[in-house]
Amino acid sequence: MSCIFCKIVSGDIPSKKVYEDEKVYAFRDINPQAPIHILVIPKEHRMDSVFNVDESNSELVAACFEAIAKIAKKEGLENGFRVITNSGADGGQTVNHLHFHLLAGKKLGEKMV
Ligand code: 5GP
Ligand code: ZN
Repeated sequence: MSCIFCKIVSGDIPSKKVYEDEKVYAFRDINPQAPIHILVIPKEHRMDSVFNVDESNSELVAACFEAIAKIAKKEGLENGFRVITNSGADGGQTVNHLHFHLLAGKKLGEKMV
């Protein structure tokens, strides 16, 4: 098992846990791009990225978004936040275990999207 996010889920690599449930683990990004930068991941490595989401595994995507809503409330993000997922080399993905970036804590730049 070489995936660093799988090692974070198993505890082999330490992380700053923000949230955990049966299906989802969330932790602070090691190189934050905003005052609050949390990575939300399915514990099970059943897809590398959104490219691999299908009807057999999409419940994990739903579980991640349910977790994001809970974390946003817990972190007091009533003023807003942004969720980003990178897929593949051109998308800027560097860790091939599906993950969602939750960015907040300041007024974020107007655009990428
Ligand atoms: P990607 O570039 O694949 O969309 O996002 C990967 C993210 O994982 C990056 O924001 C990077 O800072 C973060 N990251 C990489 N290795 C580690 C690590 O060992 N611990 C934590 N907490 N974050 C990591
Ligand atoms: Zn993994």
